[in-house]
Amino acid sequence: MSRAEPPGGTEQPVRVRVHPALCEGWGECHRWGGAVYPLDDEGQVAIERLEVPPEHARDAWLGAMACPARAISYLGPLADTVDGPPAAAVARATPEPTP
Ligand code: SF4
Repeated sequence: MSRAEPPGGTEQPVRVRVHPALCEGWGECHRWGGAVYPLDDEGQVAIERLEVPPEHARDAWLGAMACPARAISYLGPLADTVDGPPAAAVARATPEPTP
């Protein structure tokens, strides 16, 4: 797997999880994925769990990979995460009953 591209591509929304207790305020996540990882006034990443739209999936991946403290888990496409796809996606994927 390349560090330059997220697993599963960038066609779907993805999830990331930040572990605040591990964050050491390096700011690399923001440098590589500023659209996804805002920093607070103390320079620590200011999110804990986030659903990221496809257009920012690569930024989410790069920011997670750049963190020297390994404080960010890139969970991948929503459909592949433990919580499963969002209810709206399930509703769209459910076939209509046949008469
Ligand atoms: S790169 Fe890692 S340690 Fe640095 S601010 Fe981001 S999450 Fe925190």
